[in-house]
Amino acid sequence: MSLAVGQSVALPILDTAPQRPVFAQGPRDLASVRLLRISVTDRCNLRCIYCMPEGGVEFSDKDELLQPADFEAIARVAVGFGVTHLKLTGGEPTIRRDIIDIAERLAALRPEDLSLTTNGLQLPRLAGPLRDAGVDRLTLSIDSLRPDRYERITGGGRLDLFWRGVDAATDAGFERLKFNVVVINGVNDDEVADFAALTRDHPWTVRFIEYMPLGESQLVRPGADPSAAIVDNAVIHRRIEAVHGPLAPVERATEVGVGPANVFRLPDARGRVGFISAMSAPFCATCNRLRLTATGELRSCLFDGGEVSMLPTLRPAPDPEFIARRFAECVVLKPDTHSFRGNRAMSQLGG
Ligand code: SAM
Ligand code: SF4
Repeated sequence: MSLAVGQSVALPILDTAPQRPVFAQGPRDLASVRLLRISVTDRCNLRCIYCMPEGGVEFSDKDELLQPADFEAIARVAVGFGVTHLKLTGGEPTIRRDIIDIAERLAALRPEDLSLTTNGLQLPRLAGPLRDAGVDRLTLSIDSLRPDRYERITGGGRLDLFWRGVDAATDAGFERLKFNVVVINGVNDDEVADFAALTRDHPWTVRFIEYMPLGESQLVRPGADPSAAIVDNAVIHRRIEAVHGPLAPVERATEVGVGPANVFRLPDARGRVGFISAMSAPFCATCNRLRLTATGELRSCLFDGGEVSMLPTLRPAPDPEFIARRFAECVVLKPDTHSFRGNRAMSQLGG
């Protein structure tokens, strides 16, 4: 597909993708699952325009949220059958008061890699304790380098506090930070070359994520077509090269984590540039992850596919065999190719 700079399209593969997934093809057994993404809350201290609806979302009751021992019991079984990577996410994981307890419990299971995705605003307070708890890596979300735009996109966030969080993370020993940038047509797509420039002097990976029109958000109004907000990553790639020169591919295995990004490097850069192209080039056939929601649903897919409830496996006491059975039941629900809109909001799923 050839696109002019700034042009975005409705992506045909997804227009025709089945809303009801066809199951049981591709790597659909537990042996292929490497990463469990664990959402610890659906609440957040920001209201990003692509993630939350204008009037706010209805959050789960606090007493419906899983407890640290629940996350530990589920993750223990996952690590037992071969999950190597655990990721804490949300909502905003750092607003849970017991986040350090949760991180310590998961680190004690000795996964190869324990990471956390955050908007970064609580890191001045928490970067050190998270590091001490055993978190190996952080991913930070930032969608503009301009304070006024950052504030508008995040619904009130302060960019100076974000950068303070980055400093705190670096001081605490988190070095190879990843940055997630959700690119939205006409909102921040003019900043992609500036974002890529951050990788020249820092050992960071800046990852451009195609906007996914999941659930309701300020970009997805009932009845409206959200396609116009999506910018194909091929366009972003060309814009960066037009400013900075050729992007050289980097062997994916050298990137920490087991994410779906295609990774490149600018000439002489210390860091890397990644592209996550879930809309223009779905990577469902090689998907290696499952997701646990904060209220105990195990999800086979970010978009759709099925989910199973973990709650019966946890009450009155965790039952490892039952938990393992639920994992096996969930993984076969993965769709061959995800649909366009999904069936849950991003803040419930943790990205
Ligand atoms: N609050 C944390 C944060 O913002 O990093 C963690 C949760 S957030 C849901 C996880 C990731 O999903 C973030 O990098 C965010 O930018 C991304 N995200 C949220 N909504 C998205 C959407 N509609 N399309 C693409 N990425 C999205
Ligand atoms: Fe909050 Fe993260 Fe969603 Fe932004 S993307 S509203 S920071 S959960």
